[in-house]
Amino acid sequence: MDRKKIDIVIPCFNESKCVDLIYKALKKLFESELSGFDWSILYIDDGSQDDTLEHIVGLSNSDNSHVRYISFARNFGKESAIYAGLENADGDYVALMDADLQHPPHLLVEMLHAIEDEGYDCATARRVKREKESKVRNFMSNAFYKVINWATGMKLAPGMTDYRLMKKQVAEAIVSMREHERFIKGIYSWIGFRSKWIEYENVERVEGDSKWNYRGLWNYAKTGIIAFATTPLRAVIYLGFLVIGISLVYAIRLYIMSVTGARPWQDTTTIILLLLFLGGVIILLLGVIGEYLARIYMEVKNRPIYIAKEKKLDK
Ligand code: UDP
Ligand code: MG
Repeated sequence: MDRKKIDIVIPCFNESKCVDLIYKALKKLFESELSGFDWSILYIDDGSQDDTLEHIVGLSNSDNSHVRYISFARNFGKESAIYAGLENADGDYVALMDADLQHPPHLLVEMLHAIEDEGYDCATARRVKREKESKVRNFMSNAFYKVINWATGMKLAPGMTDYRLMKKQVAEAIVSMREHERFIKGIYSWIGFRSKWIEYENVERVEGDSKWNYRGLWNYAKTGIIAFATTPLRAVIYLGFLVIGISLVYAIRLYIMSVTGARPWQDTTTIILLLLFLGGVIILLLGVIGEYLARIYMEVKNRPIYIAKEKKLDK
C-alpha cells in the first residue's frame, strides 16, 4: 500500500525555543499513532531576529529527511509565510501549524480521520475556551467576526484558527489566489471545499510571547474586511440617496408651511435646502465612483475565476 505523506508547514518568527519543541512533539506523534504516514516539516523562518534559523538549520542537518525550511529576507508576516509553505509543500496532505505548540499536534489524528474516513477535504481547528484572555480582547474578537461576516457574506467562526490539515488540492487552490493583501481565513472560506471543524481547548504558548498586540490585531481586522468586502465603498451610494431624500422631504414640509402661512419662506431656507440637496448629490456621486472602484479593486486582485474540485475532461 502506498504510504501517504504529510507536510507540516510551520511559520516561525522569533521562535528559537519552539523550533525544537515542536519538532520533538511531531516526531513522537509520527513514530507512534501516525507511524503509517511519511512526514516532513517545512519551517518558514519569517525573518526572525533571534537564532531561530540556526536552530532550524541544526535540526535539518541532524534529520535531513524530515526537516526542510525556507528563510525570508525580512519579516513578511504570517500570511506570507503560510503562502510560501503551501506553495512549496508537495505531500498528499498539508498541515498548517503554529510553532508555539498552541496548536496541539495530536489533533492531526482527528483531522486525518475527518479527511480519510469521513470524506472531508480539509479540517480546521476551532478554539473553544479563551478564559485566560482578557474580556476586552474577547469582546473585540467576537465583534470582529460579526462585522466581517455581515460585510462580506462569509461564514467565519469565532475561535477559528489557522491550524488545519488539507488535501494537496486545497493547498493548491489557496496558492492560486495570488493577492498581496492576504487574509487567509477569508481565503479558506472563499475557495469552498468541504471542511470539518475540530474543537479543542485553548492552550498557552510554551515559550516566548505572542507576536500580536492591539495595533496588530486592528490592522489584521482591517485587512480582513477590506480584502474581502467592498461594502464600505458601495454603502456610500445609499447615504447619498438618504441625504437627498431628507432634503426633499424637508423642502416639501417648508413649502407647505409657507403656503399655509405657518412659517414664511425665507432666503436662508432656500440656501439650507440647496446645501443639503447638493451635499446629497455629491455623496451619491462618490458612491457611484465607489461602485466602479470596488469592481476595479476586486479585478486587480486577479483571483481565479473558479476553483474546480474534480475534473474529467478527456475521453
Ligand atoms: N508568526 C510569523 N510571522 C509574524 C508573526 C507570527 O510567522 O510576523 C508566527 C509565529 O512564529 C507563530 C504563529 O505565527 O508560529 C502565531 O503567532 P503567535 O503565537 O504570536 O500568535 P497568537 O498565537 O498569539 O495568535
Ligand atoms: Mg501563539
